[in-house]
Amino acid sequence: SSIKQDLIASIRNIPDYPKPGVMFRDITTMLGNARSFRRAIDELVHPFAGQKIDKIAGVEARGFILGGAMAHQMSSGFVPIRKKGKLPHDTVRIAYSLEYGVDEMEMHRDAIKPGEKVILVDDLIATGGTAEAATKLLQQMGAEIIAACFVIDLPELGGRKKLEALGVEVLTLVEFD
Ligand code: 5GP
Repeated sequence: SSIKQDLIASIRNIPDYPKPGVMFRDITTMLGNARSFRRAIDELVHPFAGQKIDKIAGVEARGFILGGAMAHQMSSGFVPIRKKGKLPHDTVRIAYSLEYGVDEMEMHRDAIKPGEKVILVDDLIATGGTAEAATKLLQQMGAEIIAACFVIDLPELGGRKKLEALGVEVLTLVEFD
């Protein structure tokens, strides 16, 4: 559709970032274009029209931007999932693998009540390792994850299948090889 083509055109491609051989998909150009930003948020919230979603959980840092806008549009709360050490109150934490080594993410222990309907959001899903860890944190807190949403899917890296194996529905707007 032309909406998808416009979205794709609004995303900037940065060769060899953050290292040689990697093509980085830069959404700052999408965010900086008023029409593209609105369209992306409209497309992300559209499947949930008429549903009561309690919380949007956004993954630091680009998931905060998308998730904040989605939460406003859907009249939902927003929950930040952050790199370790950033949140001031009691947290639950999970370790996850990166390409080199491990990292940890956390959320406030009281951010989600058992049974709350939650949508997870980040800008991009690649291997799915980040979203898988976020999913496990949310499930540990008793969240009912309605879906995980991403502007960009890199399907060759298999992230969607990883989340679907956890029973999570995955919604993405555009794909790149
Ligand atoms: P994964 O854990 O699925 O392998 O990687 C996804 C995470 O890395 C997301 O948090 C995403 O923001 C970030 N990421 C990896 N590659 C890119 C990229 O090319 N563009 C953007 N915007 N984010 C990326």
